[in-house]
Amino acid sequence: MAAETKKIPYKIYLEENEIPTSWYNMRADMKNKPAPLIHPGTLQPLKFEDMQPIFCDELIRQELDDETAFIPIPQPIQDFYKMYRPSPLTHAVFLEEALGTPAHIYYKFEGNNTSGSHKLNSAIAQAYYAKEQGLKGVTTETGAGQWGTALSMACSFFNLDCKVYMVKVSYEQKPFRREVMRTYGATVTPSPSMETNIGRAINAEHPGTTGSLGCAISEAVEVATTSEGYRYELGSVLNQVLLHQSVIGLEVKTACDKYGIKPDIIIGCAGGGSNLGGLIAPFMGEKLRGEADYRIIAVEPASCPSFTRGKFVYDFADTGKVCPMAKMYTLGHDYIPSPNHAGGLRYHGMSPILSQLYHDGYMEARTAEQSKVFEAAELFARVEGTLPAPESSHAIRAAIDEALKCKETGEEKTIIFGLTGTGYFDMTAYEAYNDGRMTDYIPSDEELAESFAKIPDLGL
Ligand SMILES: *Cc1c(COP(=O)(O)O)cnc(C)c1O
Repeated sequence: MAAETKKIPYKIYLEENEIPTSWYNMRADMKNKPAPLIHPGTLQPLKFEDMQPIFCDELIRQELDDETAFIPIPQPIQDFYKMYRPSPLTHAVFLEEALGTPAHIYYKFEGNNTSGSHKLNSAIAQAYYAKEQGLKGVTTETGAGQWGTALSMACSFFNLDCKVYMVKVSYEQKPFRREVMRTYGATVTPSPSMETNIGRAINAEHPGTTGSLGCAISEAVEVATTSEGYRYELGSVLNQVLLHQSVIGLEVKTACDKYGIKPDIIIGCAGGGSNLGGLIAPFMGEKLRGEADYRIIAVEPASCPSFTRGKFVYDFADTGKVCPMAKMYTLGHDYIPSPNHAGGLRYHGMSPILSQLYHDGYMEARTAEQSKVFEAAELFARVEGTLPAPESSHAIRAAIDEALKCKETGEEKTIIFGLTGTGYFDMTAYEAYNDGRMTDYIPSDEELAESFAKIPDLGL
Protein backbone atom coordinates (compact mmCIF):
# COMPACT_ATOMS: atom_id res chain seq x y z
CA MET A 1 0.00 0.00 0.00
CA ALA A 2 1.38 3.42 -0.93
CA ALA A 3 2.08 5.65 2.05
CA GLU A 4 -0.26 8.35 0.64
CA THR A 5 -3.29 6.10 0.82
CA LYS A 6 -2.81 5.11 4.48
CA LYS A 7 -5.50 6.66 6.64
CA ILE A 8 -3.93 9.05 9.12
CA PRO A 9 -5.20 8.34 12.67
CA TYR A 10 -5.94 11.08 15.20
CA LYS A 11 -2.90 10.01 17.20
CA ILE A 12 0.04 8.48 15.39
CA TYR A 13 1.75 6.10 17.80
CA LEU A 14 5.03 4.65 16.64
CA GLU A 15 6.18 1.19 17.72
CA GLU A 16 8.69 0.80 20.51
CA ASN A 17 11.31 -0.30 17.98
CA GLU A 18 10.84 2.99 16.11
CA ILE A 19 12.28 5.06 18.98
CA PRO A 20 15.51 6.52 17.54
CA THR A 21 18.70 4.62 18.37
CA SER A 22 20.98 7.54 17.42
CA TRP A 23 20.72 11.28 17.96
CA TYR A 24 21.20 13.54 14.95
CA ASN A 25 23.72 16.36 15.17
CA MET A 26 22.68 19.25 12.86
CA ARG A 27 26.14 20.82 13.16
CA ALA A 28 27.53 18.09 10.89
CA ASP A 29 25.52 19.53 7.99
CA MET A 30 26.01 23.23 8.77
CA LYS A 31 28.46 25.04 6.49
CA ASN A 32 28.82 27.84 9.01
CA LYS A 33 29.35 26.08 12.33
CA PRO A 34 28.10 27.70 15.53
CA ALA A 35 30.78 29.84 17.14
CA PRO A 36 32.66 28.09 19.97
CA LEU A 37 32.20 28.93 23.64
CA ILE A 38 35.04 31.17 24.76
CA HIS A 39 36.80 31.92 28.02
CA PRO A 40 35.84 35.43 29.20
CA GLY A 41 39.40 36.17 30.34
CA THR A 42 41.54 34.84 27.50
CA LEU A 43 38.84 35.08 24.77
CA GLN A 44 40.17 31.74 23.50
CA PRO A 45 37.79 28.94 22.47
CA LEU A 46 37.26 26.57 25.38
CA LYS A 47 39.10 23.28 25.03
CA PHE A 48 38.16 19.94 26.51
CA GLU A 49 40.40 20.48 29.57
CA ASP A 50 38.94 23.93 30.25
CA MET A 51 35.45 22.47 30.59
CA GLN A 52 36.40 19.35 32.56
CA PRO A 53 35.95 20.88 36.03
CA ILE A 54 32.37 21.88 35.14
CA PHE A 55 30.89 19.28 32.77
CA CYS A 56 31.04 15.48 32.37
CA ASP A 57 33.71 14.29 29.93
CA GLU A 58 31.43 12.62 27.38
CA LEU A 59 29.08 15.61 27.36
CA ILE A 60 32.04 17.91 26.61
CA ARG A 61 32.93 15.68 23.65
CA GLN A 62 29.37 16.04 22.38
CA GLU A 63 29.48 19.79 22.98
CA LEU A 64 32.60 20.13 20.84
CA ASP A 65 31.67 17.66 18.09
CA ASP A 66 30.70 19.64 14.97
CA GLU A 67 31.34 16.73 12.60
CA THR A 68 29.63 13.48 13.62
CA ALA A 69 26.12 13.41 12.14
CA PHE A 70 24.73 10.45 14.12
CA ILE A 71 25.70 9.66 17.70
CA PRO A 72 24.42 6.30 19.04
CA ILE A 73 22.12 6.52 22.06
CA PRO A 74 23.51 4.25 24.80
CA GLN A 75 21.23 1.32 25.62
CA PRO A 76 20.33 2.41 29.22
CA ILE A 77 19.08 5.75 27.82
CA GLN A 78 17.08 3.93 25.14
CA ASP A 79 15.61 1.77 27.91
CA PHE A 80 14.56 4.84 29.91
CA TYR A 81 13.07 6.47 26.80
CA LYS A 82 10.71 3.46 26.59
CA MET A 83 8.99 4.61 29.79
CA TYR A 84 7.49 7.62 28.01
CA ARG A 85 8.44 7.39 24.33
CA PRO A 86 7.60 7.25 21.50
CA SER A 87 5.46 10.34 22.09
CA PRO A 88 2.42 10.66 19.85
CA LEU A 89 2.13 12.97 16.85
CA THR A 90 -1.45 14.13 16.96
CA HIS A 91 -3.55 15.30 14.04
CA ALA A 92 -5.35 18.31 15.52
CA VAL A 93 -8.65 17.69 13.76
CA PHE A 94 -10.70 19.36 16.49
CA LEU A 95 -8.57 22.49 16.29
CA GLU A 96 -8.80 22.51 12.47
CA GLU A 97 -12.57 22.25 12.76
CA ALA A 98 -12.80 25.03 15.35
CA LEU A 99 -10.74 27.31 13.11
CA GLY A 100 -12.53 26.28 9.92
CA THR A 101 -9.16 26.09 8.18
CA PRO A 102 -8.17 23.98 5.18
CA ALA A 103 -4.71 23.63 6.77
CA HIS A 104 -3.59 20.31 8.28
CA ILE A 105 -2.26 20.78 11.78
CA TYR A 106 -0.18 18.26 13.75
CA TYR A 107 1.50 18.52 17.12
CA LYS A 108 4.13 16.47 18.89
CA PHE A 109 3.29 16.21 22.60
CA GLU A 110 6.26 15.93 24.96
CA GLY A 111 4.39 16.38 28.24
CA ASN A 112 3.53 12.72 28.81
CA ASN A 113 5.91 12.12 31.69
CA THR A 114 5.86 13.18 35.34
CA SER A 115 8.26 16.08 34.81
CA GLY A 116 5.71 17.30 32.26
CA SER A 117 8.01 18.47 29.46
CA HIS A 118 10.61 17.55 26.83
CA LYS A 119 13.45 18.33 29.27
CA LEU A 120 13.57 14.70 30.40
CA ASN A 121 15.02 13.71 26.98
CA SER A 122 18.28 15.49 27.82
CA ALA A 123 18.16 15.01 31.61
CA ILE A 124 18.34 11.22 31.30
CA ALA A 125 21.28 11.47 28.89
CA GLN A 126 23.16 13.89 31.13
CA ALA A 127 22.55 11.75 34.23
CA TYR A 128 23.71 8.64 32.37
CA TYR A 129 27.06 10.14 31.36
CA ALA A 130 27.63 11.38 34.92
CA LYS A 131 27.00 7.86 36.21
CA GLU A 132 29.27 6.33 33.55
CA GLN A 133 32.05 8.63 34.68
CA GLY A 134 31.66 7.31 38.22
CA LEU A 135 30.52 10.63 39.67
CA LYS A 136 28.63 10.91 42.96
CA GLY A 137 26.19 13.49 41.75
CA VAL A 138 25.32 16.60 39.81
CA THR A 139 24.21 20.14 40.53
CA THR A 140 21.89 22.39 38.61
CA GLU A 141 19.63 25.41 38.87
CA THR A 142 15.95 25.61 38.18
CA GLY A 143 13.65 28.57 37.70
CA ALA A 144 10.08 27.49 37.15
CA GLY A 145 11.10 23.95 38.06
CA GLN A 146 10.70 21.83 34.90
CA TRP A 147 14.39 21.20 34.40
CA GLY A 148 15.03 20.48 38.09
CA THR A 149 12.16 17.99 38.10
CA ALA A 150 13.43 16.25 34.98
CA LEU A 151 16.97 16.00 36.31
CA SER A 152 15.71 14.68 39.68
CA MET A 153 13.84 11.89 37.90
CA ALA A 154 16.86 11.03 35.77
CA CYS A 155 19.26 11.02 38.73
CA SER A 156 17.04 8.79 40.82
CA PHE A 157 16.96 6.26 37.96
CA PHE A 158 20.76 6.05 38.01
CA ASN A 159 21.15 6.47 41.79
CA LEU A 160 22.97 9.77 41.55
CA ASP A 161 22.80 12.60 44.04
CA CYS A 162 21.06 15.67 42.63
CA LYS A 163 21.45 19.15 44.14
CA VAL A 164 19.03 21.68 42.75
CA TYR A 165 19.35 25.43 43.38
CA MET A 166 15.87 26.79 42.91
CA VAL A 167 15.23 30.52 42.48
CA LYS A 168 13.86 31.54 45.90
CA VAL A 169 10.68 33.14 44.62
CA SER A 170 9.76 29.91 42.75
CA TYR A 171 10.77 27.78 45.74
CA GLU A 172 8.22 29.66 47.80
CA GLN A 173 5.54 30.02 45.12
CA LYS A 174 5.78 26.55 43.56
CA PRO A 175 5.92 24.18 46.55
CA PHE A 176 4.48 21.33 44.49
CA ARG A 177 7.33 21.37 41.98
CA ARG A 178 9.75 21.34 44.90
CA GLU A 179 8.02 18.32 46.46
CA VAL A 180 8.13 16.38 43.18
CA MET A 181 11.91 16.90 43.13
CA ARG A 182 12.24 15.83 46.78
CA THR A 183 10.11 12.76 46.12
CA TYR A 184 12.68 11.71 43.51
CA GLY A 185 15.43 12.20 46.10
CA ALA A 186 16.87 15.56 45.08
CA THR A 187 18.01 18.21 47.57
CA VAL A 188 16.33 21.49 46.76
CA THR A 189 17.91 24.68 48.10
CA PRO A 190 16.38 28.12 47.69
CA SER A 191 18.78 30.46 45.92
CA PRO A 192 20.54 32.64 46.94
CA SER A 193 21.48 30.33 49.83
CA MET A 194 23.97 30.70 52.66
CA GLU A 195 25.83 27.56 51.49
CA THR A 196 28.00 29.14 48.80
CA ASN A 197 30.37 32.10 48.62
CA ILE A 198 28.32 33.62 45.83
CA GLY A 199 25.05 33.06 47.69
CA ARG A 200 26.38 34.60 50.91
CA ALA A 201 27.76 37.59 48.98
CA ILE A 202 24.49 38.19 47.19
CA ASN A 203 22.49 37.83 50.41
CA ALA A 204 24.79 40.33 52.14
CA GLU A 205 24.54 42.78 49.26
CA HIS A 206 20.79 42.42 48.68
CA PRO A 207 19.16 41.32 51.95
CA GLY A 208 15.79 39.68 51.36
CA THR A 209 16.37 39.13 47.62
CA THR A 210 14.10 36.54 45.99
CA GLY A 211 16.87 35.42 43.64
CA SER A 212 17.30 35.05 39.90
CA LEU A 213 18.18 32.30 37.45
CA GLY A 214 21.61 33.84 36.90
CA CYS A 215 22.34 33.71 40.61
CA ALA A 216 21.12 30.09 40.92
CA ILE A 217 23.40 29.07 38.02
CA SER A 218 26.37 30.69 39.75
CA GLU A 219 25.64 28.77 42.96
CA ALA A 220 25.20 25.44 41.18
CA VAL A 221 28.45 25.89 39.26
CA GLU A 222 30.33 26.86 42.44
CA VAL A 223 29.12 23.75 44.26
CA ALA A 224 29.95 21.47 41.30
CA THR A 225 33.47 22.80 40.90
CA THR A 226 34.28 22.71 44.63
CA SER A 227 32.74 19.32 45.53
CA GLU A 228 34.66 16.14 44.75
CA GLY A 229 32.76 13.86 42.36
CA TYR A 230 30.23 16.45 41.20
CA ARG A 231 29.60 18.19 37.88
CA TYR A 232 27.12 20.83 36.72
CA GLU A 233 24.34 20.15 34.19
CA LEU A 234 22.27 22.58 32.14
CA GLY A 235 18.87 21.94 30.55
CA SER A 236 18.90 24.12 27.41
CA VAL A 237 21.02 26.36 25.13
CA LEU A 238 24.05 24.02 24.88
CA ASN A 239 24.82 22.06 21.71
CA GLN A 240 24.66 18.76 23.63
CA VAL A 241 21.11 19.51 24.78
CA LEU A 242 19.91 20.15 21.21
CA LEU A 243 21.60 16.90 20.22
CA HIS A 244 19.64 14.90 22.84
CA GLN A 245 16.40 16.66 21.92
CA SER A 246 16.75 15.54 18.29
CA VAL A 247 14.88 12.43 19.46
CA ILE A 248 11.71 14.56 19.15
CA GLY A 249 12.25 15.50 15.52
CA LEU A 250 13.47 12.05 14.49
CA GLU A 251 10.24 10.52 15.78
CA VAL A 252 8.21 13.18 13.97
CA LYS A 253 10.11 12.42 10.75
CA THR A 254 9.46 8.68 11.08
CA ALA A 255 5.74 9.31 11.67
CA CYS A 256 5.57 11.70 8.69
CA ASP A 257 7.37 9.25 6.39
CA LYS A 258 5.08 6.42 7.50
CA TYR A 259 1.93 8.33 6.60
CA GLY A 260 3.17 10.46 3.71
CA ILE A 261 2.83 13.70 5.68
CA LYS A 262 4.92 16.54 4.19
CA PRO A 263 5.15 19.55 6.49
CA ASP A 264 5.27 23.01 4.90
CA ILE A 265 5.72 24.84 8.19
CA ILE A 266 7.37 23.67 11.42
CA ILE A 267 6.83 25.79 14.54
CA GLY A 268 8.33 25.73 18.02
CA CYS A 269 8.54 28.01 21.03
CA ALA A 270 12.00 29.28 21.83
CA GLY A 271 13.43 29.85 25.30
CA GLY A 272 17.00 28.62 25.08
CA GLY A 273 16.16 26.77 21.87
CA SER A 274 16.36 23.11 22.91
CA ASN A 275 12.88 21.83 22.01
CA LEU A 276 12.85 23.78 18.75
CA GLY A 277 16.35 22.62 17.85
CA GLY A 278 15.31 19.03 18.55
CA LEU A 279 12.00 19.21 16.70
CA ILE A 280 13.47 20.66 13.53
CA ALA A 281 16.75 18.68 13.52
CA PRO A 282 16.14 16.12 10.74
CA PHE A 283 14.12 18.62 8.68
CA MET A 284 16.82 21.25 9.01
CA GLY A 285 19.32 18.58 7.99
CA GLU A 286 17.43 18.07 4.73
CA LYS A 287 17.25 21.80 4.23
CA LEU A 288 20.99 22.24 4.88
CA ARG A 289 21.81 19.44 2.44
CA GLY A 290 19.49 20.96 -0.17
CA GLU A 291 17.17 17.93 -0.22
CA ALA A 292 13.94 19.63 0.87
CA ASP A 293 12.62 22.97 1.98
CA TYR A 294 10.53 23.87 5.00
CA ARG A 295 9.48 27.11 6.65
CA ILE A 296 10.74 26.95 10.21
CA ILE A 297 9.38 29.44 12.73
CA ALA A 298 10.65 30.20 16.24
CA VAL A 299 8.14 31.90 18.54
CA GLU A 300 9.33 33.91 21.50
CA PRO A 301 7.57 36.12 24.05
CA ALA A 302 7.25 39.80 23.11
CA SER A 303 8.67 40.54 26.57
CA CYS A 304 11.87 38.52 25.96
CA PRO A 305 12.59 38.87 22.22
CA SER A 306 16.12 37.48 21.82
CA PHE A 307 15.93 36.51 18.13
CA THR A 308 13.76 39.35 16.89
CA ARG A 309 15.32 42.26 18.76
CA GLY A 310 18.56 40.90 20.19
CA LYS A 311 22.14 41.26 18.98
CA PHE A 312 24.21 38.41 17.50
CA VAL A 313 27.35 38.80 19.59
CA TYR A 314 29.42 37.10 22.28
CA ASP A 315 27.78 37.55 25.67
CA PHE A 316 27.86 35.96 29.09
CA ALA A 317 25.65 32.91 29.37
CA ASP A 318 24.60 33.85 32.91
CA THR A 319 23.99 36.98 34.93
CA GLY A 320 26.69 36.03 37.45
CA LYS A 321 29.34 35.83 34.68
CA VAL A 322 30.76 32.55 36.02
CA CYS A 323 29.96 30.62 32.82
CA PRO A 324 31.79 30.79 29.48
CA MET A 325 30.68 33.29 26.83
CA ALA A 326 28.62 32.21 23.84
CA LYS A 327 28.01 33.88 20.49
CA MET A 328 24.25 34.06 20.24
CA TYR A 329 21.26 36.33 19.81
CA THR A 330 21.13 38.04 23.18
CA LEU A 331 19.28 40.80 24.98
CA GLY A 332 22.27 41.22 27.32
CA HIS A 333 23.11 39.04 30.33
CA ASP A 334 21.54 41.56 32.70
CA TYR A 335 18.20 41.55 30.91
CA ILE A 336 15.33 40.39 33.11
CA PRO A 337 11.84 40.20 31.58
CA SER A 338 9.21 42.33 33.30
CA PRO A 339 7.65 40.79 36.44
CA ASN A 340 4.24 40.50 34.72
CA HIS A 341 5.74 38.05 32.23
CA ALA A 342 4.06 34.73 33.03
CA GLY A 343 4.83 32.40 30.20
CA GLY A 344 8.30 30.96 30.84
CA LEU A 345 10.90 31.42 28.09
CA ARG A 346 12.73 34.10 30.05
CA TYR A 347 16.33 33.37 29.08
CA HIS A 348 18.23 36.41 27.73
CA GLY A 349 20.16 34.44 25.10
CA MET A 350 19.58 31.65 22.58
CA SER A 351 21.21 28.41 21.45
CA PRO A 352 24.37 29.19 19.41
CA ILE A 353 23.30 26.59 16.82
CA LEU A 354 19.89 28.18 16.26
CA SER A 355 21.44 31.64 16.39
CA GLN A 356 23.76 30.75 13.51
CA LEU A 357 20.95 29.13 11.50
CA TYR A 358 18.73 32.18 12.01
CA HIS A 359 21.59 34.50 11.10
CA ASP A 360 22.16 32.50 7.89
CA GLY A 361 18.48 32.71 6.92
CA TYR A 362 17.49 29.07 7.50
CA MET A 363 14.69 29.97 9.89
CA GLU A 364 12.30 32.77 10.84
CA ALA A 365 11.35 34.17 14.22
CA ARG A 366 8.40 36.11 15.56
CA THR A 367 7.07 37.25 18.92
CA ALA A 368 3.75 36.70 20.64
CA GLU A 369 2.18 38.79 23.40
CA GLN A 370 1.13 36.81 26.43
CA SER A 371 -2.59 37.64 26.36
CA LYS A 372 -2.70 36.32 22.78
CA VAL A 373 -0.70 33.28 23.88
CA PHE A 374 -3.16 32.43 26.65
CA GLU A 375 -6.09 33.01 24.29
CA ALA A 376 -4.58 30.33 22.04
CA ALA A 377 -3.90 28.08 25.05
CA GLU A 378 -7.51 28.32 26.17
CA LEU A 379 -8.89 27.48 22.73
CA PHE A 380 -6.47 24.57 22.42
CA ALA A 381 -7.37 23.18 25.86
CA ARG A 382 -11.08 23.40 25.11
CA VAL A 383 -11.00 21.72 21.70
CA GLU A 384 -8.01 19.35 21.87
CA GLY A 385 -8.34 18.43 25.54
CA THR A 386 -4.75 18.91 26.69
CA LEU A 387 -3.96 21.81 29.03
CA PRO A 388 -0.83 23.27 27.43
CA ALA A 389 2.18 24.81 29.17
CA PRO A 390 2.35 28.59 28.64
CA GLU A 391 5.71 28.07 26.87
CA SER A 392 4.18 25.60 24.41
CA SER A 393 1.27 27.95 23.83
CA HIS A 394 3.55 30.36 21.98
CA ALA A 395 3.85 27.69 19.30
CA ILE A 396 0.08 27.08 19.40
CA ARG A 397 -0.47 30.82 18.82
CA ALA A 398 1.71 30.82 15.70
CA ALA A 399 0.19 27.57 14.39
CA ILE A 400 -3.30 29.06 14.74
CA ASP A 401 -2.23 32.27 13.03
CA GLU A 402 -0.73 30.33 10.10
CA ALA A 403 -3.85 28.16 9.87
CA LEU A 404 -6.05 31.27 9.80
CA LYS A 405 -3.94 32.67 6.95
CA CYS A 406 -4.66 29.43 5.04
CA LYS A 407 -8.35 30.03 5.66
CA GLU A 408 -8.05 33.35 3.84
CA THR A 409 -6.02 32.03 0.94
CA GLY A 410 -7.63 28.58 0.75
CA GLU A 411 -4.20 26.92 0.89
CA GLU A 412 -4.03 23.42 2.37
CA LYS A 413 -0.71 23.79 4.12
CA THR A 414 0.60 21.20 6.55
CA ILE A 415 1.71 22.68 9.85
CA ILE A 416 3.57 20.80 12.60
CA PHE A 417 4.24 22.35 15.98
CA GLY A 418 5.89 21.24 19.20
CA LEU A 419 3.62 20.91 22.24
CA THR A 420 6.43 20.83 24.77
CA GLY A 421 4.54 20.31 28.01
CA THR A 422 1.53 20.50 30.26
CA GLY A 423 0.39 23.54 32.19
CA TYR A 424 -0.55 21.90 35.51
CA PHE A 425 2.00 23.88 37.50
CA ASP A 426 1.19 27.18 35.79
CA MET A 427 -2.26 27.77 37.18
CA THR A 428 -1.35 31.14 38.72
CA ALA A 429 -0.70 32.38 35.17
CA TYR A 430 -3.96 30.85 33.95
CA GLU A 431 -5.69 32.41 36.97
CA ALA A 432 -4.44 35.86 35.95
CA TYR A 433 -5.74 35.24 32.43
CA ASN A 434 -9.11 33.93 33.62
CA ASP A 435 -9.51 36.89 35.97
CA GLY A 436 -8.75 39.32 33.16
CA ARG A 437 -5.66 40.55 35.02
CA MET A 438 -3.11 39.52 32.42
CA THR A 439 -1.27 42.41 30.80
CA ASP A 440 1.21 42.53 27.95
CA TYR A 441 4.62 44.00 28.16
CA ILE A 442 6.95 44.96 25.35
CA PRO A 443 10.32 46.41 26.32
CA SER A 444 11.13 49.81 24.83
CA ASP A 445 14.15 50.33 22.57
CA GLU A 446 15.69 52.45 25.36
CA GLU A 447 15.35 49.60 27.83
CA LEU A 448 17.02 47.16 25.46
CA ALA A 449 19.74 49.70 24.64
CA GLU A 450 20.54 49.95 28.34
CA SER A 451 20.90 46.18 28.54
CA PHE A 452 22.93 45.96 25.29
CA ALA A 453 25.34 48.54 26.71
CA LYS A 454 26.41 46.02 29.38
CA ILE A 455 27.47 43.41 26.81
CA PRO A 456 31.28 43.57 26.69
CA ASP A 457 32.62 44.62 23.28
CA LEU A 458 35.16 41.94 22.46
CA GLY A 459 35.67 43.03 18.88
CA LEU A 460 34.86 39.47 17.75
C1 LIG B 1 11.89 24.72 29.37
C2 LIG B 1 10.68 24.67 28.54
C3 LIG B 1 10.62 25.32 27.28
C4 LIG B 1 11.70 26.19 26.74
O1 LIG B 1 12.98 25.68 26.67
P1 LIG B 1 13.71 25.41 25.28
O2 LIG B 1 15.08 25.05 25.68
O3 LIG B 1 13.63 26.66 24.46
O4 LIG B 1 12.99 24.29 24.65
C5 LIG B 1 9.47 25.18 26.54
N1 LIG B 1 8.42 24.47 26.98
C6 LIG B 1 8.44 23.84 28.17
C7 LIG B 1 7.23 23.07 28.61
C8 LIG B 1 9.56 23.92 28.99
O5 LIG B 1 9.58 23.29 30.17
